[in-house]
Amino acid sequence: MHYSESLCRGTKLFDLSGRVALVTGASKGLGEAIALALASAGADLVIVSRKIEEISTVASNISKQTGRRVIGVAGDVTKSTDVERVVQACIESFGKVDILFNNAGINIRGPIDTLTEDEFSQVMATNVNGPWLCSRAVVPHMKKAKYGRIINLASTLGVVGLGNRTPYASSKGAVVQMTRALGLELAEFGITVNAICPGPFLTPMNEPIAETEEAKKFIVGAVALGRWGELSEIQGAAIFLASECSSFCTGSMLMVDGGWTAR
Ligand code: NAD
Repeated sequence: MHYSESLCRGTKLFDLSGRVALVTGASKGLGEAIALALASAGADLVIVSRKIEEISTVASNISKQTGRRVIGVAGDVTKSTDVERVVQACIESFGKVDILFNNAGINIRGPIDTLTEDEFSQVMATNVNGPWLCSRAVVPHMKKAKYGRIINLASTLGVVGLGNRTPYASSKGAVVQMTRALGLELAEFGITVNAICPGPFLTPMNEPIAETEEAKKFIVGAVALGRWGELSEIQGAAIFLASECSSFCTGSMLMVDGGWTAR
């Protein structure tokens, strides 16, 4: 039996050489791990967070480790002018943007009757408006290139509930639906849109609750594998969705949750 060239590409399917990725919220946590994974697979990067010192340090570390061009840009994903400037910086530096990781996110926890309207709005602005604004800014460039990969960081809490998380769970449910709607909208342009739904990872976002009884019982307790995810365990999913491997996936959710949502 003869196999066509495309059936024989094996691990080359993961190769991101020649690709340019924009990763938001990459100064720490999952975003930093994702940025490092993409650069290790061959991509050049523009990485973004609000503080230039932090993001420049991460950019220079990733560049040193991988030999890729990595540019750190300060920007707030809730501000459309910042988002447009960041995407423009990517186009000026690399001439294109192939991959967008909408990773920047925040979580403000608490019972609904203690949260303020402003806290709810802050979470929605970062977790929902942010990915929407960033996607809107890259899409014209991706349409022109007839190629694109948009990957949203949703969450297990986009598909299952947890008390004291109304802002966050509402926002991540919206990200799941944004992923589906935009996947359908952009399919004809060669652009795929998918989401990763992580379970609990011990990043700065979760440090405040890591040692609480709630975390032990309802967070790690809900995970079939019975532990927090390691930062490296997000990297395979990130490369998969950013690369040729996932060419027939769009509008899909990849659960990286240790089995939380299998129950
Ligand atoms: P983190 O708090 O460790 O890091 C968040 C990053 O986003 C930081 O770099 C921060 O500076 C940046 N950021 C926040 N607001 C921003 C803004 N307005 N503009 C630009 N950058 C901004 O968070 P994390 O745990 O690494 O989470 C990353 C993503 O994964 C988030 O979308 C989060 O909701 C999602 N997620 C995390 C977990 C987890 O267990 N850690 C689980 C499910 C989903």
